[in-house]
Amino acid sequence: MSSELTNLFDVKPSKGYLVFHPEYGKITKNAVVAAIIGGYHYDYLGKQKLSSFTVDGIYHYLGGCAALVTVKRILKELTSSGWLNQSKLSSKEAKELVCQKQPQCFVLGALVCEWCKARTLILDTHHYPIPKSEGGEKTVKICPNCHQEFHQLVRTTSYHPSENLIRFFKELAI
Ligand SMILES: [Zn+2]
Ligand SMILES: [Zn+2]
Repeated sequence: MSSELTNLFDVKPSKGYLVFHPEYGKITKNAVVAAIIGGYHYDYLGKQKLSSFTVDGIYHYLGGCAALVTVKRILKELTSSGWLNQSKLSSKEAKELVCQKQPQCFVLGALVCEWCKARTLILDTHHYPIPKSEGGEKTVKICPNCHQEFHQLVRTTSYHPSENLIRFFKELAI
């Protein structure tokens, strides 16, 4: 029944918006926590994709309205209260994040990274989608930046809506 949220549906999807619904009060009285729930809600509705479900991703979604440590604490609290599930980024999710970067335009470099499309002096051979340690034979040629980022990201904790939260979103009247 929230006209606020309905009106916000008309916004350009390319722009970022913080979303609130009065019913979030059933989950939290805290504005920052509500804004985070709003991010997951919008993502669930396919209206605005969160750039990622990591602490960094949610922090960027909030546009600086909370400190990184606060975001981290809130995501942990929402996990222990059963609204979010904690997992690690999969290789596919990590690759998607790396590929979302803006291509960097170096003047030098005759080689092109398969993932970020940047011209580069060096290309690394990286086993993908299956790691070499697990018997993977397929490889991609990616720049050292993408390579480093991938290996850091694939271990990163991410937070996804739990079944409880999805049920909550389903039952919300908009
Ligand atoms: Zn690259
Ligand atoms: Zn690698």
